[in-house]
Amino acid sequence: MTNRRLKTTLLFLLAGSAFTPLRAQQIPLNKYGLAVLQDKKQYEQLVRKDSAQQLVDLEKYIPGIRKDVRYATTNNFTHQRLYSSTAIYLRRPAADKLKQVQALLNKKGYGLLIYDAYRPYRCTELMFKIVPNDLYAADPKKGSGHNRGVAVDLSMVDLKTGKPVAMPTDFDDFTQKAHENYQPADPKVAANRKLLRDTMKQLGFKGSRTEWWHYYLPDYKKYPLMDIVF
Ligand SMILES: [Zn+2]
Repeated sequence: MTNRRLKTTLLFLLAGSAFTPLRAQQIPLNKYGLAVLQDKKQYEQLVRKDSAQQLVDLEKYIPGIRKDVRYATTNNFTHQRLYSSTAIYLRRPAADKLKQVQALLNKKGYGLLIYDAYRPYRCTELMFKIVPNDLYAADPKKGSGHNRGVAVDLSMVDLKTGKPVAMPTDFDDFTQKAHENYQPADPKVAANRKLLRDTMKQLGFKGSRTEWWHYYLPDYKKYPLMDIVF
């Protein structure tokens, strides 16, 4: 190999190694111009670079966590089964915080009940197709914190009975009664909602003004929208 050819080869190799990771980071834009991560290999690459991006199985990670994944049944506002699996995943920082919420609630005789966590983007599209109203379903043009793996829908169970505690409404009730500023007549209901809210906020989650069950991490933009089924 001549010196010149060697130089060219080296330059080519250097350029290749410099550009490969950049290219891999680029998430393709969907029809709304949103970057939605769809490739599992690309997701794994992202996790290798930043462990906070990892989606964690909450049932393995949080002792005693309970779930009632309504979107895997027909008992939800769309009356259709949207998920084939009841697995509940969140990004590592959200899972870490939720683990601490669970420990705090357990000391007071309560435990977490998860209705929904990470939601593949295609389910957001499907929900909006069935109910095209962004009061009830996230608009796929924006995506949802659930698609980013840092939003969670939850309630509490009483550890003595194992039953869900009384809350202002059922999950996905889109009336005024689900709003943050609604004043429940029953002081027990108000106290349950307050305990959940205070504990979630203590760990840095933000609540929703219209859904007492919905919480998310304020730095959600760090985590790309994803359409990968786990
Ligand atoms: Zn939600």
